[in-house]
Amino acid sequence: MTGDPPSLSDAGRDLLLGSACVGCARPGRVLCHPCAASLPRRGRVSWPSPTPPGLAVPFAGGAYDGLLKALVNAHKEHAVLALAIPLGRVLGDVVRDLLAALGSSGEPVLLVPVPSRGAVVRRRGHDPMLRVTRAAAVRLRRTGVHATARRLLVPAGRVRDQAGLGAGQRAANLAGSMRARRPRPGDRRGLVIVVDDVLTTGSTAREAQRALEEAGLPVAGVAAVAATRRLGRVRDGGSLPFSGPGH
Ligand SMILES: [Zn+2]
Repeated sequence: MTGDPPSLSDAGRDLLLGSACVGCARPGRVLCHPCAASLPRRGRVSWPSPTPPGLAVPFAGGAYDGLLKALVNAHKEHAVLALAIPLGRVLGDVVRDLLAALGSSGEPVLLVPVPSRGAVVRRRGHDPMLRVTRAAAVRLRRTGVHATARRLLVPAGRVRDQAGLGAGQRAANLAGSMRARRPRPGDRRGLVIVVDDVLTTGSTAREAQRALEEAGLPVAGVAAVAATRRLGRVRDGGSLPFSGPGH
């Protein structure tokens, strides 16, 4: 039951927690049923334009605006931790469709989140992308995919704030900004997917891919909750093969 007007239990939660839906401001749950039902359930090929050369095929759940943007920001910036579950569901479904497009045949899948910068994680007291990645792995395991969230990437060196930088500047800013931890022996048997919340220029994902491949872990694809509409060319999932403009 979605309850309209809001149910007593929702109202009770609102009294206790002072919460409201991040999508439509309905008092009660942090994500109401109608908003949750409107979230993307598919992943689509989402090449950034221009595409960083060599970027593994990127999939995203939808455009980075509206409800998706509100969800990502409320979870990341305001630590509304309950939103990791719906964000993980979206990301898990994106990975599912990416795996199908890659022709995956049931091999184990490693979901490697792009690392949050250390100071940011400490200040916020949480690692938003790791939490969403874990929720996505749970989602995938429920559908029979042997998925594991693995924090294999850590920040290295200093990075300026990316805001206001163009694609080329971002790539230069990010070069060498991540390094991979030593993989476990079993890690090499799985399909490695880089995951992030928002795909913008693709330079962050490309840097993550570089660091993993330097550690001997080839990256099969990139999955994001959302992609920026401004730069992303979101194409239909059927328009494979994956030859992006950078290939
Ligand atoms: Zn809502």
